[in-house]
Amino acid sequence: MAIPTKLALEIVTPDRALVRADVDELQVPGSEGYLGILPGHTPLLSSLTVGELWYRVGQERHYLAIAGGFVEVLPDRVTVLAQIAERAQDIDVARAEAARKRAEERLARPSGELDFERARIAMMKSLIRLQVASRARTRV
Ligand code: ATP
Repeated sequence: MAIPTKLALEIVTPDRALVRADVDELQVPGSEGYLGILPGHTPLLSSLTVGELWYRVGQERHYLAIAGGFVEVLPDRVTVLAQIAERAQDIDVARAEAARKRAEERLARPSGELDFERARIAMMKSLIRLQVASRARTRV
């Protein structure tokens, strides 16, 4: 069978469909580390962690912030079922900055182990949002 040249990418969250595009390449934040995916990839299923997702169409990369969920990879198709996802251009930077400050204060004075873990995740989410928001669509 011929190797596919594009991947049909779909990114959805429980409340909306965010992306449907034919892409050349993408990278997703797998729980075991970042996964780079090209057309023809071996089928796999992975859970996702808090991180940056990008996909490339021609010379353009598009970025999203992701927090949790699953990715299903097939040779010609990738489906991302994200718990939470935002496109770079939709991120509210002031809100992410406020969340980062709150998480920082809680990490400095946690009121227990659970609170520390929640604050750590909130900190990671806010840092990823700030990182993704700072990326204009870049040419590669
Ligand atoms: P906050 O403390 O600012 O509410 P959070 O990390 O608790 O942030 P989440 O529970 O991750 O927020 O997300 C709740 C909803 O708000 C999701 O739909 C998410 O996409 C959206 N959201 C959260 N932060 C931002 C942001 N900075 N910009 C755009 N959308 C955001």
